[in-house]
Amino acid sequence: MQIYIHIPFCQRKCNYCDFLSAPADGHVMEMYVNALIREIRGRAGSVGREDLVTTLYIGGGTPTTLSAKQLGDIFAAVSQEYRLAADAELTIEVNPKSADRDKLFFLRGNGFNRLSIGMQSMHRGELELLGRIHTPEDFTECFENARHAGFQNISVDVMTAIPGQNEQMLSSTLQSVIALGPEHVSAYSLSIERGTPFYEQFGDIEGPVVGEETERKLYWMTVDMLKMSGYRHYEISNFAKPGYESRHNTGYWKRKHYLGMGLGASSCLPSAGGDERCRNTTNLDTYLANPLSREETTILTRKDMIEETMYLGLRMMDGVDTDAFSDRFGVSVRSIYADVIDDLVAQGLIYEGASSISLTDMGIDYGNYVFAKFLK
Ligand code: SF4
Repeated sequence: MQIYIHIPFCQRKCNYCDFLSAPADGHVMEMYVNALIREIRGRAGSVGREDLVTTLYIGGGTPTTLSAKQLGDIFAAVSQEYRLAADAELTIEVNPKSADRDKLFFLRGNGFNRLSIGMQSMHRGELELLGRIHTPEDFTECFENARHAGFQNISVDVMTAIPGQNEQMLSSTLQSVIALGPEHVSAYSLSIERGTPFYEQFGDIEGPVVGEETERKLYWMTVDMLKMSGYRHYEISNFAKPGYESRHNTGYWKRKHYLGMGLGASSCLPSAGGDERCRNTTNLDTYLANPLSREETTILTRKDMIEETMYLGLRMMDGVDTDAFSDRFGVSVRSIYADVIDDLVAQGLIYEGASSISLTDMGIDYGNYVFAKFLK
């Protein structure tokens, strides 16, 4: 079992962000933490106390907009109500501006063993364009403080395809990151989402602002630079030093069960009729009044689960484990997808090994086309 906890607050909204997050005052944050702790305690019975929790991920939003005490109270509630594995991966997302030295020491001292730092760029101008609240110097200071606090597993977010970004600019950002030596790097291309300031600025454009060709060039440059520096390219947008792959996110790609708590958080849990996918309310007032209220619940069919196994598994460079697929569903991947597999292999988009199916380099460039083929 994995647990995700959502903190829907940010000091200021970034220009590209459509996540469920907004600025809030201290009173609202306090009410939210109280509601969240009620939810953490209230859901403990439903997942079974014998379930070992292997990963906890506190994301947002910006979890570090909360005080150290509030974060400590949330963590304490989880560890009192659920059985955390002795070697559980315990991650919290931090913004360089809201995670000072004391807070980082507090987090490490209170059990968190992995940080995910939202850096995005090492260029002041790009950070301003994105609407980020921090500078490159804030990030470097945060990273060094995190090391001093004892974090030996740090992930850094890098954004590619930022408007105006060229290879030289991205290369210098990556060089700065590589020089610091985080254990993990996530590198996502900017996309323009409806309802954001960037949507107003750039309009309803298809594909990346920098153009498809530049976006791909920047992507492959990122892959090459990180691989040459000892990072394993283990998922389309994720890179890790050996042994530091995100266990939490890998759980999503392998379709492990997870319990999501907090505003708008999703869960995928076992149920009698098949897996159950549910989502908490996205309305803050409703959540504060009743943090156990669900907005929607769907029972996944066997077909849903098979399709998800394929398109989520293909995101990983190791691909879909076809033996594990047969064990899980009682039939081989080929018995369902022989035509699709043959067609995609012939086009050079996937590779079929003895016990796996994975994307080729060209398949990565046409990922969405490939994934859609596995939806029958
Ligand atoms: S810090 Fe993250 S969650 Fe908050 S507004 Fe920026 S991108 Fe969105």
